[in-house]
Amino acid sequence: MIRKTYPGVDKESAMSNKELRERIARFSRIELIHRPTPMRKLAAISAELGGPEIWIKREDLTGLAFGGNKSRKLEFIIPDMLAQKAEVMITWAALQSNWAMQTAAACTRVGIHPVLILFKRYDLPPEYDGNMLLDYILGAEIRVMEPITGKSVSQEDALAIVERVADEFRAKGKIVYTIPVGGSVPMGSMRTPLGAIGYVDAFVEMLDQTRSFGFEPDAVVHSSGSGSTQAGLVLGAKASSPRTRVVGISVSDEKTSFARDVLMIATAAEKTLGLKPSVRPDDIIVFDEYIKDGYGIVNQEVADITRWMFRKEGIILDPVYTGKAFAGLVDLIGRGVFAKTDKIVFFHTGGTPALFPNKHKIVELLK
Ligand SMILES: *Cc1c(COP(=O)(O)O)cnc(C)c1O
Repeated sequence: MIRKTYPGVDKESAMSNKELRERIARFSRIELIHRPTPMRKLAAISAELGGPEIWIKREDLTGLAFGGNKSRKLEFIIPDMLAQKAEVMITWAALQSNWAMQTAAACTRVGIHPVLILFKRYDLPPEYDGNMLLDYILGAEIRVMEPITGKSVSQEDALAIVERVADEFRAKGKIVYTIPVGGSVPMGSMRTPLGAIGYVDAFVEMLDQTRSFGFEPDAVVHSSGSGSTQAGLVLGAKASSPRTRVVGISVSDEKTSFARDVLMIATAAEKTLGLKPSVRPDDIIVFDEYIKDGYGIVNQEVADITRWMFRKEGIILDPVYTGKAFAGLVDLIGRGVFAKTDKIVFFHTGGTPALFPNKHKIVELLK
């Protein structure tokens, strides 16, 4: 069972939501999303499971493009690009990346030219479908590259490639803003973890909602990839609702090294917000057993849970992130990790355009 209280933190030491909001308000923010994003109980699914009570926070309905968690991060990142007078934004990601598409969509709105370095995946062709179709419609500059070592590419190798592309634009006199995948780790032109600030903000917003519904969540569960969603949520929970556990379901990285990354981002975000350091290694709860065959590889559980959620609740999950995370949550419930009386908030972080390029696999699995 996941611990109920953080050691050394009691209710009295928690910051009020108002104080935390004031800290966040010191950062420039551009309006990109509808807020608050909707929240409701998954009544049919909770009943079928026989508890716990699961609520959903619809970060897939942010309103930028097809929505998703990257839009909330970009509300804080785009002002940094504008402050640096950027004319060109360069980032990297995997083919069919939600981050790449959402960032490109935010950039074109403010007149910044998006350049996307997309690393090939072996399970998907580089064709104009899903997010890549949207990148194309936006007029983003797309450069498809081979991964450097095997299946993946390290942040350092990717940043080196981005820097080479950046030099092409600098040689033409352009001001370039480089940013890592997910807007998570402060590197390139983004010197502070602005993406994580977006998710502290999301936590504060959610807490106002759950309190208006009359409860304080026992746990928040979400899909975790590059780390700033989890870092921001953990920080929000530590600061304003110590009873709330944040549980990240990893879709790509092994848990020990990934938890270290999340802790690093959270610690940097505390400093950036001017908070006393409080996040500790054991606050970062990551489960990595739902990655299964690898990042983005659709499996039977994901296909089944996507159908179940759509049929029972009318909500569409995605095959890369939220499908794996929700399948993970249901499995963890079965394993007794949560009490039947718990109230859990599942963050739907978006990603639905990825359904379409994975159509053949999904149809085959649901036959
Ligand atoms: C990027 C992404 C995540 C993971 O968020 P991180 O902040 O990168 O950990 C989860 N779900 C979807 C749909 C995403 O696109």
